[in-house]
Amino acid sequence: AKAHGRGRSSVFDFSMESDQLDQYLLERDLGEAIEQDELSLVFQPKVDLVTRRVVGMEALVRWNHPSRGQTPPAVFIPLAERSDQIVRIDRWVMRQALQAQAHWRDQGLPTLPVSVNLSMADILSTNVVDYLGALLDEFNVPASALEIEVTESAVMRELTRTRNVLAALNTRGIGTALDDFGTGFSSLSYLRQLPLQSIKIDQSFTLSMLQDSNAETLTQAIVAMGVALKMLVVAEGVETEQQMDWLMEHGCHLGQGFFFSPPVSGDDIHAVIRNIELR
Ligand code: C2E
Ligand code: CA
Ligand code: CA
Ligand code: CA
Repeated sequence: AKAHGRGRSSVFDFSMESDQLDQYLLERDLGEAIEQDELSLVFQPKVDLVTRRVVGMEALVRWNHPSRGQTPPAVFIPLAERSDQIVRIDRWVMRQALQAQAHWRDQGLPTLPVSVNLSMADILSTNVVDYLGALLDEFNVPASALEIEVTESAVMRELTRTRNVLAALNTRGIGTALDDFGTGFSSLSYLRQLPLQSIKIDQSFTLSMLQDSNAETLTQAIVAMGVALKMLVVAEGVETEQQMDWLMEHGCHLGQGFFFSPPVSGDDIHAVIRNIELR
């Protein structure tokens, strides 16, 4: 019995170790990803549900790992957040996003605001607002060409600090959006105190609202909450025309999702935008 027990526990330990090893290797490789030119950005349009005009886009990071291939952000962003690499990655993302803006402007393309995602560590890091200000100056891009998305859970964890950073961004002319809205615990009174121009309804609501009447009621309440707070309400994960119609009828302003377009490269995004607006 003892041998059996030991055997079992050693198998268990082995799988634990290999899992940890895997995380360790991935984390090590992530440390080199920027230098090795393995990261890239893709862009996904945000569409006005009434006019069908594209009014902005979100920048999302991609990692093409040398042996594993495309590794989803859902895998490496949490790893980067645990290992303190996220600040370096997000600063790379901010720089690339503004460089893309300058490039499009130089090609004579219209400037649409690009949103970038900030993690909690970015908010807590010193000088994130100065860093963005310096980038805007360097690329000679207006502050209105940039928006910052922060998740509801991050905001609620560091309320005072986040409020100050968001206010400083607004003072600099940079818009702010609350991401993954509905998945955290924010109350209306907290939200009212935050300098935000936009809320993004988490895609789990969009996905379930036409399947489940409780989800529908909840989504309706969330849209109404954003409207009552005078914020621009964006629904994520719009995949069907039915979802788009429902959102429009219930007062949601913007939609983002595969129904309009998946995230695409910077070379393709303006053609995608033209196609959406011609539909
Ligand atoms: P998010 O900010 O909520 O981004 C939306 C995610 O939903 C993206 O996944 C996008 O590709 C996906 N999506 C868009 N439309 C649809 C749709 O119609 N249906 C479905 N099912 N999904 C859709 P992605 O690119 O894999 O990013 C996952 C998460 O990783 C992001 O969620 C964000 O939290 C994080 N992330 C991505 N890029 C960055 C970054 O540069 N910095 C930081 N800190 N986080 C990032
Ligand atoms: Ca986001
Ligand atoms: Ca989101
Ligand atoms: Ca999300």
